[in-house]
Amino acid sequence: MEAPPKPENEPERLDALDDHQVLDTPPDESLDRITELARHMLKTPIALVSLVDEERQWFKSRQGLNAKETPRDVGFCAHAICEEDVMVVPDASRDRRFEENPLVTEEPKVRFYAGAPLQDSEGHALGTLCVLDTAPREIDTEQIAMLEGLASVVMDEMHLRRLASFDPLTALPNRRYFMDLSEQEYGRALRHGHDISVAMIDIDHFKRINDEHGHDAGDAVLKAFAGLCAKVLREHDIVCRYGGEEFAVLMPHAALRQADRAARRLGNRIDDFAVEIEGGEIRFTISIGVTAVRVSAESIGDALSRADKALYDAKAQGRNRVICALASPGRN
Ligand code: GH3
Ligand code: MG
Ligand code: MG
Repeated sequence: MEAPPKPENEPERLDALDDHQVLDTPPDESLDRITELARHMLKTPIALVSLVDEERQWFKSRQGLNAKETPRDVGFCAHAICEEDVMVVPDASRDRRFEENPLVTEEPKVRFYAGAPLQDSEGHALGTLCVLDTAPREIDTEQIAMLEGLASVVMDEMHLRRLASFDPLTALPNRRYFMDLSEQEYGRALRHGHDISVAMIDIDHFKRINDEHGHDAGDAVLKAFAGLCAKVLREHDIVCRYGGEEFAVLMPHAALRQADRAARRLGNRIDDFAVEIEGGEIRFTISIGVTAVRVSAESIGDALSRADKALYDAKAQGRNRVICALASPGRN
């Protein structure tokens, strides 16, 4: 078995994949329709949108296969992303690159593979749209063209999804996407009975920063603050740009006490945080409202309104502080 080669632009390719923020996200109906179409048009039992991560290939959409991912070493797609055109393997058991591959020798016993690279606008191959069969097969030029056409539809779809879900300045999820992600977390919390808390954060006197240093400097502060949140908060906390200079955080597995601590940690880090701008630096403070979600008794939206009221109180009490709102039963 031959280990797949690495594309020349591997580090940039991985960055581009990261930028799409698509790994380990829930299934997407549009992409599932495309893989279903690929399966029908090419008459194969398996069709996948496979993204090649550093050590694995992860399937954003899969038809006819149970595995969610496979190690990169044994991946067909890891080979396919190194090619310009569609990679076709008519019979994997007769191809020295794949004959000893566990996906070929063991279940699902792949014999046929055809994968079209998913190229972004800068030419990074993020993965493939591929079809697989458990019997050897041939593929004609028309079918190859179909697969290429569907691969570009997959890329368009991923591009649109990114534009619709992320704030271009900070690269954080926007409010709409945050609400989608929050609903998913809420569902998990409901099923498994764990805590979730939310926080609303607002930069203090942000208008002054714009007025004194200009709008570009204001933008730099928003960007730097988003980066700081990512560093200070836990990996599975979801931070979004809620609007303007306001950010919302959803903290899964955090009761009020932990959420309060996280908010204070962020506030403390801001004390010695400076954003470098041309000819100087900008320092600022934040106000935060925190509350725990009363899972099953209220919606995420209810909890966010309560956090927003706490944030308003933090502003009223002089800014640069964290206020925790207790969720008293029956009241928001
Ligand atoms: P407070 O402490 O009460 O929150 O005061 P503030 O000045 O931070 O709040 P205010 O709501 O008065 O002003 C927010 C400003 O944020 C006004 C708006 O022009 C600015 N703003 C919103 N979005 C952006 C952006 O994307 N970039 C920049 N540079 N400024 C923005
Ligand atoms: Mg503000
Ligand atoms: Mg504001």
